[in-house]
Amino acid sequence: MTDSEAWPRSAAAFAEAVKLMPGGVNSPVRAFKSVGLTPPFIQRGEGAYLYDIDGHKYIDYVSSWGPLILGHRHPEVVDALEKTLREMGTSFGAPTELENELAREITTAMPAVEMVRLVNSGTEATMSALRLARGYTGREKVVKFAGCYHGHADYFLIQAGSGALTFGIPNSPGVPATVAANTIVAPYNDLAAVEDIFQKAGEEIAAVIVEPVAGNMGCVPPLPGFLAGLRTITKEYGSLLIFDEVMTGFRVAFGGAQALYGIRPDLTCLGKIIGGGLPVGAYGGRREIMERVAPSGPIYQAGTLSGNPLAVSAGLATLKVLKKPGTYERLESLSARLEKGLKEAAAEAGVPVTFNRVGAMFTTFFNPGPVTDYATATASDTRAFAAFFRAMLRQGIYLAPSQFEAAFMSLAHREDDIDCTIAAAREAFKGIAI
Ligand code: PLP
Repeated sequence: MTDSEAWPRSAAAFAEAVKLMPGGVNSPVRAFKSVGLTPPFIQRGEGAYLYDIDGHKYIDYVSSWGPLILGHRHPEVVDALEKTLREMGTSFGAPTELENELAREITTAMPAVEMVRLVNSGTEATMSALRLARGYTGREKVVKFAGCYHGHADYFLIQAGSGALTFGIPNSPGVPATVAANTIVAPYNDLAAVEDIFQKAGEEIAAVIVEPVAGNMGCVPPLPGFLAGLRTITKEYGSLLIFDEVMTGFRVAFGGAQALYGIRPDLTCLGKIIGGGLPVGAYGGRREIMERVAPSGPIYQAGTLSGNPLAVSAGLATLKVLKKPGTYERLESLSARLEKGLKEAAAEAGVPVTFNRVGAMFTTFFNPGPVTDYATATASDTRAFAAFFRAMLRQGIYLAPSQFEAAFMSLAHREDDIDCTIAAAREAFKGIAI
């Protein structure tokens, strides 16, 4: 069946969209290019499900790329948004008590974050954290890891993951060579490479930025000792360690990857879950560093909509639900059930896969593995992934449309949904094995 037969309204909407927006979308991976389909257009979401404008229902494992850990339109988030809208308004550009509340939640959940600044996206959080690291240390260079994505600012679009990796354009045109020259790229999980970089240029390095669990080359957990090694090396050379927890914050544990692995970074970047599905980001860290941010210090950063009351309300409502006892245990048990079922289904069909998972974020790599870095992730069979993806979508399972993305479990998923997903995967794997 062709796209236009299975998704006639979506195909028509996409044909219109490509005339109006580059690639028909407002963020590249949504175009479904790497899976050879045109994207279903979404009508609505409810709990663990998405509904498209062609009348299909899907079990959703994208969760808006991570923010919707409670599922779509969770009643407490909807109530909080309605209350803020009716009783307050949409934006003031002036302080509100809500901002204190969210800042308090974040600083309590993450003791390394002694002060925090709210922004509007993960990209803004990482850009601002790097400016702060440079201003604080008086140094210009930054170390990042191949396959890690930190948003679309110039100095991070160097061998970036996510959409850039999917499309095979690791260095975007438009990124000045002078900017790229200050970004040093190391292989993920390779401490020896980082030591080598620091021996050569340690005194010039403002910061190391890392996804403490990589999600943007697919899910790649840190090997034992990797994050602790980064902590030791950065401390030795007076560089800052920045954890980009935009994806992992409040997902792999309430206190993020820093709580899970027991590492105290100097700065932390957040986004996604802390906005409950509305546009938010945040960066924070040691008080002495954060006090260098304007207006208490000279390092400038600002935002018309920063601390927006609707976004902050949605984030607060989300964190309130996540704090209830048993939530992370529930996410773990659902995710473990899916892991077990998918591994068995792949083995039955004789398809070699590597299933990487940390809590409620995971990726099925079409690759015998192990997958520990960019080189091993990109050794995956992307054609097999695309075939699997298409077979899953046709059976009502909505996965991330790229091999190099993480999938996300939500608290709205039920055991039945997991079992349906495993049954669909059994069929999809069989199709690949033939
Ligand atoms: N950092 C990480 C780890 C991310 O996963 C993302 C987005 O997926 C970003 C930064 C950028 O966030 P945003 O898309 O909100 O700008």
